[in-house]
Amino acid sequence: MSEQDRRQATQDLLAYIDASPSPWHAVANAAADLEARGYRRLAEDEPWRLEAGGGYYVIRDDSSLIAFRIGDSPLSRSGFRIVGAHTDSPGFRVKPNPAHAKGPLTALGVEIYGGPILASFADRDLTLAGRVMVRDDSAPGSLGTRLVHFDRPLVRLPNLAIHMNREVNKEGLKFDYQDQLPLFLAAVSEELPPEERFRGLLAEAAGVAADDLCSWGLAVADTQPGAFWGPEGEFIADSQLDNLASCHAALAALPDDGPEAGVAMAALFDHEEVGSESYKGAAGNFLESVLERIGAALGLDAEAYRAALAGSWLVSADMAHAYHPSWPRHHDDQHQVRVNEGPVIKVNAAQRYASDELGQAYFARLCEQAGVPHQSYIHRNDLPCGSTIGPMMAARLGLRTVDVGNPMWAMHSVRESAGGEDQGALIEVLKGFYAEGSSGS
Ligand code: ZN
Repeated sequence: MSEQDRRQATQDLLAYIDASPSPWHAVANAAADLEARGYRRLAEDEPWRLEAGGGYYVIRDDSSLIAFRIGDSPLSRSGFRIVGAHTDSPGFRVKPNPAHAKGPLTALGVEIYGGPILASFADRDLTLAGRVMVRDDSAPGSLGTRLVHFDRPLVRLPNLAIHMNREVNKEGLKFDYQDQLPLFLAAVSEELPPEERFRGLLAEAAGVAADDLCSWGLAVADTQPGAFWGPEGEFIADSQLDNLASCHAALAALPDDGPEAGVAMAALFDHEEVGSESYKGAAGNFLESVLERIGAALGLDAEAYRAALAGSWLVSADMAHAYHPSWPRHHDDQHQVRVNEGPVIKVNAAQRYASDELGQAYFARLCEQAGVPHQSYIHRNDLPCGSTIGPMMAARLGLRTVDVGNPMWAMHSVRESAGGEDQGALIEVLKGFYAEGSSGS
């Protein structure tokens, strides 16, 4: 990939994130891209007919998506090449009865979703985006779905002035989770009680009457677009780099024509940040169901399907912690991962990451074949290690798995940062991964 192509890959990533302020948008935009590339949508509640060389995708509940292209060599020998990632990011979700008067202001109650750096949300130009369920007589079951995105600053979490919080720089910015996180929306008005105000805004954005609003999944999103920074624009900043960067890479690398190998697949799940145990999460049966149905549609019996799984690989792609030179003691000295120096193989003896020595060697070889450098990450022994979807998917499906991801700073901040070079590098490696396979290696 030329320098220009790498820059373009990163620009595409920032555009994807800016158009995807919620996991529902991330999936809708992925679907639109896949359609444009000739992938056809399959419904889970209809029979599947699959052809060699065909590209397909399945969406579960609007925020998890599995896309795949069937190769022309026998699946029982070549297996599946799966890249797993997650569509959700930590932050806030709007409560079912959110609007209330808080002193002179109309406030919106929010739940904390996953493990965000709460202080990073203060004083930012925030908005709301997500999925709204509405009464719609023309839709199945009379329930329609609308994606909404208020494309302007709408809500705010203002700081307390330092004059009233003198210790803030020593103690850090802390919030009472129940009382101090409601977001401010408007001044209280007598004509427009808080609930009416909120429902009116949401109904307008959804294009329905307020009485037809049923329920919502609304994320609090940043309005600042992604940016390159540094003298040469060598770094990037945006929200949701964890983990829309990996979703973008998994999708961008998918072949537009049938590969020679078995099945190339991008599996993108919601709910990773809250443990993945859900209808559409990576610990659920979505992937297993899709794999089984592909096997059945291609005529594999149980024995051949098991053989295909045993010959498969899962690359679990989620972001990694780059070395932060102002906090050197939070890193392992021998595993200082750097931005713009290639994808990271994540290793943890306690299996919080699924990469064993086979997975490490396998992914390192993929990088070498793509002409891309790679790095290894170990969390310090004296800090608890995070985890991701790799170990649970490896255990559930019996897949050889390696946990990898591009390096970044400020994971779970509403404004994360990373290198501008690494996105294109990861895409190149994943292209090689999807294309390989008939050797059953
Ligand atoms: Zn993640």
